[in-house]
Amino acid sequence: MPQAAKPPFAKILVANRGEIACRIMNSARRMGIATVAVHSQADAQAMHVEMADEAVCIGPAAAALSYLDGEKIIEAALKTGAQAIHPGYGFLSENADFAESCAAAGLVFIGPNPQAMRMMGDKIRSKTCALQAGVSVVPGHVGEIADAEEAVKIAREIGYPVMIKASAGGGGKGMRIARSDAQVREGFQSARSEARSAFGDERIFIEKYIDNPRHVEIQVMGDKHGNIIHLGERECSIQRRNQKVVEEAPSPLLDAQTRQAMGEQACALARAVGYDSAGTVEFVAGQDRSFHFLEMNTRLQVEHPVTEMVTGVDLVEMMIRAAAGEPLGLAQEEVKIRGWAVETRIYAEDPWRNFMPSIGRIRRFLAPPEEAGRLRVDSGVGEGGEISMHYDPMIAKLVTWGKDRKAAIAAQQAALDGFCIEGIAHNIPFLAAIMANRRWREGRLSTGFIEEEFPGGFAGAPLNEEMVERLSLMAAAMDHVENLRRRQISGQLPGNDVNFSAERVVWREDARTGLALHVECESAKLIRMRPDKGGEHVVEPQWRPGQPLWRGRIDGVPLSAHVRRILNGYELTHHGARLALRVYSPFEAQMARLMPVREAADTARLVISPMPGKVLSVAVKAGQAVKAGDVLCVVEAMKMENILRAERDGVLEAVHVAPGDAIGADALLMEFGT
Ligand code: ADP
Ligand code: ADP
Ligand code: MG
Repeated sequence: MPQAAKPPFAKILVANRGEIACRIMNSARRMGIATVAVHSQADAQAMHVEMADEAVCIGPAAAALSYLDGEKIIEAALKTGAQAIHPGYGFLSENADFAESCAAAGLVFIGPNPQAMRMMGDKIRSKTCALQAGVSVVPGHVGEIADAEEAVKIAREIGYPVMIKASAGGGGKGMRIARSDAQVREGFQSARSEARSAFGDERIFIEKYIDNPRHVEIQVMGDKHGNIIHLGERECSIQRRNQKVVEEAPSPLLDAQTRQAMGEQACALARAVGYDSAGTVEFVAGQDRSFHFLEMNTRLQVEHPVTEMVTGVDLVEMMIRAAAGEPLGLAQEEVKIRGWAVETRIYAEDPWRNFMPSIGRIRRFLAPPEEAGRLRVDSGVGEGGEISMHYDPMIAKLVTWGKDRKAAIAAQQAALDGFCIEGIAHNIPFLAAIMANRRWREGRLSTGFIEEEFPGGFAGAPLNEEMVERLSLMAAAMDHVENLRRRQISGQLPGNDVNFSAERVVWREDARTGLALHVECESAKLIRMRPDKGGEHVVEPQWRPGQPLWRGRIDGVPLSAHVRRILNGYELTHHGARLALRVYSPFEAQMARLMPVREAADTARLVISPMPGKVLSVAVKAGQAVKAGDVLCVVEAMKMENILRAERDGVLEAVHVAPGDAIGADALLMEFGT
């Protein structure tokens, strides 16, 4: 990439928020381009606003009144003297009308030309176009379907199972699988009404459903001089409800021949529509490496960093230069794929509670240190920042590189353990469990992976005996360091030293048994432990009391875990597994063994308020059947509206609250029937 080249623009406006706005500004800054942020009232203190050279408030929190209001954004660009607008992803990024309005106002839209966006923004039109360009498309009926009876006729011709899709669809909306005539009739109606309300466009088409599929996509890049190249593929088969969760480049499925064929088809399509920016051609692939065109996304993709990691290019810089009319500085033969990259999306959701979205303020945010070309954290909120119900729940993306897939995954595991996010729930333990999953490690992927590997939801990754032992040593070491600290508190009279036994017992909270060991301390940084059952371990903690992350070595092996202090012990989260350990002296353990076990109340039936607040609305009645994820009620707390959703399917036996009620934390709101 030409580094010293003159900046193509003096100033650009970034019409987005969160991590992608920050990521775009990073490239702009490096290129010597000044940046303008736009923000809603809710985002006045957001990270992207802090980062920009200038910022303009464009309206209230609701996206429709701010980030989706093209007129206000153009006005902000004209007012600040920005020459071009980068739309990021989501919001206005695939809106051809907005791209045209930019041009009409004398601003450059950093993305493809509006004609190409229109051709590809519609699934029926883009499939027709792909067929003409000689691209392999999913078998089916390329055209609008009039009614349910025609849908059944076409589905029978294609052969079951089929996929019913909205032509204007996106984000997984307006899509149904059907395996019978009845399902086609029902799916046709429901997909149509979903499409009408989500996109204002009810056109529906049908294609073959590819069983056990994988999602593989090609990154393409074009300029205004007719040059088109591709930058290899990404695989994004790890999805939850059609939302990508983990992505990687290259794909473990493809061989050189398939890669070349897919890349050539993607370029042929891009060429056919006169594509002139960064774009992604998505394919659905069979396990036998057959592949079919799905759709083209005419924007920068969330998962673009994995491609940057393995090719060494900066896609945002390329987009900016292409928009300014510069020719691509890279020929197809010069594109080299080096090593392997994996990206995980860190979302504000609670994997232990059916991925319930979590909103609120981030009290603590620690991320592993970035390493150029090896470890990248793209985040858009930091400590003190807020995850709001108005926008995407993504906190950050973690991208790691390794010389091969195994190394990239190992780097992910280590880096995931290096995060500490408090104040809101997050999916890091779930991501860590995926990284530890054998099928993932073997690259045997499909879009059904998460449902198949985590059938009843997520309950923490399994722990083996060896890991339990190592975490027990870690807990004993922390207890020891804390005791040392207590002994060093200054101002104690001589003779009043805190004494503690060198014999410790570490228990699993759920088992009331565990490891008995003798602890011998050379220093707070080197502790020897001799278990009763024999052997010796050396623990080298780099941890001080109160720190939320334990780092160190056990028997020379580096290890880290997230630490939460609990009564007489620690709750440790490591590689997606969670373990509560108590550390006792032998006498305390003896006493503790005599204590009765307190049975946990059966709270699975109960809907408990997670916070004190005021009930704004109640969406359900006693006797009503609900599905996991359905809204139960809205509670206002700390000036925020919190949506409480059902964590399970069931029938509500009782509803104890009404709008206007003030409720305490842990108040009983509703009860499911047994
Ligand atoms: P990617 O392939 O880049 O991962 P996603 O489907 O995850 O694409 O969407 C990227 C972003 O675009 C997300 O923020 C998502 O919310 C948004 N998005 C995708 N499709 C739509 C749509 N039709 N309308 C509004 N936002 C969308
Ligand atoms: P969206 O615009 O919502 O992203 P896509 O057409 O890209 O819609 O499909 C989203 C996801 O749904 C794909 O990643 C793939 O997992 C699955 N999918 C879509 N069409 C098919 C199909 N015909 N067969 C199997 N899976 C499909
Ligand atoms: Mg898609």
